[in-house]
Amino acid sequence: MSDIEEHRKKIKEITLEMIKLLKTRTDIAKQIGDAKASLGMTVTDEEREDELRTQVAKLCKEIDLDQSTASKFLNLLLNESVKVQSDNKQTHLSVFLKAKALEEQGKKIIHLEVGEPDFKPPKEVKTALAEVYDKGYGKYGPAKGITELRAALSMQEEVDIGNIMICPGARFAVYLAITTLLNPGDEIIVIEPAWPAYKDCALNAGIKVRTIKTTLETKWEPSIDQINNVINENTKMIILNYPNNPTGKTLPEKLLDSIIQTAKEHDLYVLSDEIYENYYLEENPKSISEYEDVKSIITKSFSKSFAMTGFRIGYAKAGSSMIEKMSKLQALSLTNVSEPIQYVALQALKSKKSLLGNSEIIKSRLEVLVQSAKDIGLEFIEPDGAMYLFARTKHKNFDATKFSEKMLEHGVAIAPGEGFGDYKEFFRITAIDETRLIEGMKILDTVLKETV
Ligand code: PMP
Repeated sequence: MSDIEEHRKKIKEITLEMIKLLKTRTDIAKQIGDAKASLGMTVTDEEREDELRTQVAKLCKEIDLDQSTASKFLNLLLNESVKVQSDNKQTHLSVFLKAKALEEQGKKIIHLEVGEPDFKPPKEVKTALAEVYDKGYGKYGPAKGITELRAALSMQEEVDIGNIMICPGARFAVYLAITTLLNPGDEIIVIEPAWPAYKDCALNAGIKVRTIKTTLETKWEPSIDQINNVINENTKMIILNYPNNPTGKTLPEKLLDSIIQTAKEHDLYVLSDEIYENYYLEENPKSISEYEDVKSIITKSFSKSFAMTGFRIGYAKAGSSMIEKMSKLQALSLTNVSEPIQYVALQALKSKKSLLGNSEIIKSRLEVLVQSAKDIGLEFIEPDGAMYLFARTKHKNFDATKFSEKMLEHGVAIAPGEGFGDYKEFFRITAIDETRLIEGMKILDTVLKETV
């Protein structure tokens, strides 16, 4: 047998070995997932996965096969079992859909689960909507967006126009960044609790997620050791989202400095989702754009700042080569973001007054929410911004998923914590208009007293 044939035979053996290991794992994955879900445990088991990795590394050494390639392949297979297990989680979206179905049956629901401002977009948007027809906006256009809007954003962001790309919402910008900058089998770091789409995008693209679990006790701050412990040769990106959904927290500047330093040392992309930048309670802290020589992708949106969630428009700010990669997939999948909506967004940008006004509205709502949660006796860290409160009760082993189901029966929708990671005792409440918020919190207090 030639050397090449010998090598191929060995690769076949190692592949079969991996598949056998994974087959056992995937077969029982569903059962494990169900059992874990009922016990409130996470679907990934880093320790067991590391055991698998060690076995694969040993096999690789025996046949002199590149370990990083084999471990990427293993990541792909492991992802399959995570996907199977993730299916039965309750998220803010699944609660929202249930609430909508109840509304269709005529039930009144107070929506404390959705992440969208319940006030209107600026007046400029109304005028712009009426103008688009006569102005002739409505044709195909460049995949990165219309020049007028990109130019306006590049001025605002103080970057070159080549660093800006318009997307249908920050969600799509996140999806593009993860899908086009990384390869299947690569790894990303997500600090939890986190907006679930980061993990879902990665899973969808065959990318392994390394989760950093933070706690209320440590003010939702990760430690540099936690981050260093999960970095290996396949780690390619870390995701940051501050002020954070769901906790509303931001990071102390020194910690952020160290995270960025670590990212630079390991040549990681930093995907910084800054969609809530307009909703800081105090002065805005340092943005990722202020750091030099970082491979950063910053995602922003008109959804929250301008209350334009349904318009589906946001943007990415990144190095031009990254923008090129992302825009290729955008061209392939969408051609371009709706031209009329881009024009409308351009006009919204001119309304600095509404930005300030919206920020004040959210601020006062968060104050009401914090006070009311204190009165009820919930446990939480006061948010630095965003639109939410992430809280738990004083009761040990409290099942917030069951509680959210009960709340829905009483006409209030809240977001169960398990949608944001391994946080089955927590729930997220959105700061909506004060009257309905207070009404919702009163019901929460009553249902809580009945439950425990
Ligand atoms: N990032 C975060 C952290 C979010 O909470 C959301 C929406 N809930 C998005 C991105 C998506 O925003 P968009 O509407 O711009 O797609």
